[in-house]
Amino acid sequence: MKAMDRAGAGVRLENIRKTFGALDVIHCIDLEIKGGEFVVFVGPSGCGKSTLLRMIAGLEDVSDGEISIGDRDVTYLDPSERGIAMVFQSYALYPHMTVRENLGFGLKMAGTPADEIARRVDAAAEILKITHLQERRPGQLSGGQRQRVAIGRAIVREPDVFLFDEPLSNLDAELRVSMRVEIARLHRTLGNTMIYVTHDQTEAMTLASRIVILRDGRIEQVGTPREVYEDPDNIFVAGFIGSPR
Ligand code: ADP
Ligand code: MG
Repeated sequence: MKAMDRAGAGVRLENIRKTFGALDVIHCIDLEIKGGEFVVFVGPSGCGKSTLLRMIAGLEDVSDGEISIGDRDVTYLDPSERGIAMVFQSYALYPHMTVRENLGFGLKMAGTPADEIARRVDAAAEILKITHLQERRPGQLSGGQRQRVAIGRAIVREPDVFLFDEPLSNLDAELRVSMRVEIARLHRTLGNTMIYVTHDQTEAMTLASRIVILRDGRIEQVGTPREVYEDPDNIFVAGFIGSPR
């Protein structure tokens, strides 16, 4: 896939702030993510994970600061111009369309030629092992299969950076574990930069090449799973990650 050639776009957040009215939600976040990294933002509910991810996606304006992806300043670009694709927790598939049509719909809307759509849909379906499901409709799929289609819709866009916002939260525990393995495999296959938001410590520890621990809109610690586990910077991190003390 072309995504392979484009893998490696890093993401840089400089001095990012976000306020909603009088509410300070993100305070001055600086972070450099290297191309190909799998970075997980983890922290308690309400700490600002989704807001931060949505600012990277361009779904939310920054109140202050700059965001670059690769060598481009994307701070004021539309989501479609940023080279990103986002996977959400609630994956609204079109119920009246087949899997194949669901996968290709965004590209069709963007005016991509039919043969190019077919090529990308085939490639994504193969990566996700849903080739045999392509003529089914969402109602004929399991929860895990539906989530694969949702991830497939991101893959066909061949983004530089994948953004995931708690994509597995709606799945039962067993399925969460197997989809986690799938997402790790996807990262190994594609090699793209991935930024993944979760409030689940286990998910964070198993998926991340680096973990960013957030609390109240601030970064508490950044490190490999092992670093934050073995050498937490403070009591909050130790408690949240469950480090032995
Ligand atoms: P998380 O994803 O970590 O649970 P969010 O980023 O969704 O946290 O929210 C962070 C804080 O910002 C919360 O206090 C939330 O209520 C607030 N918030 C999020 N979006 C908005 C909005 N559109 N308007 C006002 N407050 C918001
Ligand atoms: Mg959230």
